[in-house]
Amino acid sequence: MVSDRMASIQESTTLKISAMAKKLAAGGQDIIDMGVGEPDFDTPKHIVEAGCSSIRKGETRYAPTAGIPQLRQAIAEKLVRENLLNATADDVVVTPGAKMAVFAAIQALLSEGDECLLIGPSWVSYEPCVAFAGGRVAWGRVDGNFMPQNIAESINSKTRLIIVNSPSNPTGSVFDRKALEEISDLAVDHNLFVISDEIYEKIIYDREHISIGSMAGMEDRTVTINGFSKVYAMTGWRLGYLTGPKETMKWVIRLLSHSVSQATTFVQSAGVAAMQGPQEEIASMVAEFKIRRDILVEGLKDLGIPCNVPGGAFYLFPDVSALDGGDAFTDKLLKEALIAATPGSAFGPGGADYVRLSYAISQSRIRQALERMKIIVK
Ligand code: PMP
Ligand code: GLU
Repeated sequence: MVSDRMASIQESTTLKISAMAKKLAAGGQDIIDMGVGEPDFDTPKHIVEAGCSSIRKGETRYAPTAGIPQLRQAIAEKLVRENLLNATADDVVVTPGAKMAVFAAIQALLSEGDECLLIGPSWVSYEPCVAFAGGRVAWGRVDGNFMPQNIAESINSKTRLIIVNSPSNPTGSVFDRKALEEISDLAVDHNLFVISDEIYEKIIYDREHISIGSMAGMEDRTVTINGFSKVYAMTGWRLGYLTGPKETMKWVIRLLSHSVSQATTFVQSAGVAAMQGPQEEIASMVAEFKIRRDILVEGLKDLGIPCNVPGGAFYLFPDVSALDGGDAFTDKLLKEALIAATPGSAFGPGGADYVRLSYAISQSRIRQALERMKIIVK
């Protein structure tokens, strides 16, 4: 038995491919995993130590649904300092992973039949989260650099929400001030909410990250989401957060209180250490990602595969329309080159000509992947 609403929900392609790559590797196959978006770095030691010490101190009981006060305070200070948001600790809600923040915010904001605008190829979980809420997605157009293009055309009387994800998963594109101003103007003019998923905020190359929630007229209509998975290499710890108008946060907290209760107590203590401890490892991680991006971009160019040079995140989104399209090429990559990748179609109809390659793997593995691609492309 399955409910009508659940029956329309597809499995997460990114997690499915991740599981498949792990299974093939465990079976002895030399799989190069460019499928899942997960940093290959270890969680910094001082964060691990803070988590362990919290367990040893007995911080193993329930915590407040919205998060422990020290973490909410540390996050609020970060949001004021770095994102120019007017957040206080009371406006911050901690979640088990940013994915739960995305899910909860969408459930709190959308009613049955409401539309949510996604701008070009978009992360796999947005559309299912909208479907869980009984809403539907409209796809806004993007130009060749995956920047918004005439997205006003996709807004109608049912539109209630726009999701902004810059730097973007899967394209790596970074929205500049002009693009964000266009979106914020539309939000104000049409009385829409914006969810700004900023999880790749610090994984950015020579660009400026701007939080749309800090722009004129946006404070009362923006939910800003972020998390620890990417920036502190903490994917398995499950720690994220969101902030936004008090009324919206009230319903988010209510949803959490009846579902997950809270993010794990000692993980939150590790989160405080992450936010307040040394930040140098982020810069070296980003520098390494940039080198890898350049190796992969150059390599694809040599193979004649057109690809934008993304300004952030750790994905390339090359156009493989000349290689039978995203689905067929992803299949071929796995079967003939033992490279796991994600077909662009997983990110919506605009992604069908593309494949997403995650470069959260070592430089030598990237070079090896390019060698293998050379054989199947030629
Ligand atoms: N948003 C985007 C765009 C992502 O790529 C991810 C990665 N899984 C998430 C949200 C969720 O991250 P997590 O739940 O691991 O914090
Ligand atoms: N966000 C990552 C990705 O896109 C992790 C998997 C997931 O949570 O979807 O690969």
